[in-house]
Amino acid sequence: EGRSIVFASGKGGTGKTTTVANLGVALAQFGKEVIMIDADITMANLSLVLGMEDIPITLHDVLAREADLKDAIYEGPAGVKVIPGGLSLEKIKKAKPERLREVIREISQMADFILIDAPAGLEMTSVTALLIGKELIIVTNPEISAITDSLKTKLIAEKLGTLPLGAVLNRVTNEKTELSQEEIEAILEVPVLEVIPEDPEVKRASAYGIPLVIKNPTSPAAIAIKQLAAKLAGIK
Ligand code: ADP
Ligand code: MG
Repeated sequence: EGRSIVFASGKGGTGKTTTVANLGVALAQFGKEVIMIDADITMANLSLVLGMEDIPITLHDVLAREADLKDAIYEGPAGVKVIPGGLSLEKIKKAKPERLREVIREISQMADFILIDAPAGLEMTSVTALLIGKELIIVTNPEISAITDSLKTKLIAEKLGTLPLGAVLNRVTNEKTELSQEEIEAILEVPVLEVIPEDPEVKRASAYGIPLVIKNPTSPAAIAIKQLAAKLAGIK
């Protein structure tokens, strides 16, 4: 059985999707089998960052019990498998959260790593996403509003029995106004696993629909994400 890891933040826009997409590709480049799932039911965009087009069947169809899971699994860059989200509000209404747990159970046999891109917020769908992974990685920014939301997310995850592995600090510029790594570790009570710098190449890569670790593997953010992948893969 593979490791199922939820990437969550509380606050929106911290870099969950960017991290999941690139980490997944980097793990695949290290020879790991990876499945990524877009559990951001209402704002699905994982497949866009991965540059995947033509997706007739999505997780929404599976959750609405209108399609088989196997038909919603696509091959992405570097051989990663991806279960994309959809944009149909109609199907969001029909989606059964308990079905999401079944989906995770089924795919956990298929890969070494199951990376779950969670929605922001702490509403029903976000909390459900926290439940479905065994481990949690918080993706946050070095500012107090993001950190307090991350703390709430971590506490809920722990209550649900999900193990917080640590935090990824994203979009770090090292300006004086930022919280330091030590301050963040003290507040969240988890280790910082990796620091990903603010990097204009991130946006450029997603505009091209090519994951940064492929498009620009020597850019600062790509190097950081590859280091995180190496850590998770047990390479260093
Ligand atoms: P989330 O999934 O948490 O909502 P995204 O991964 O979609 O966040 O990122 C939000 C925005 O921030 C996107 O426009 C993305 O390109 C940008 N972004 C993410 N990480 C970085 C970074 N390290 N440097 C610069 N821009 C980034
Ligand atoms: Mg996202």
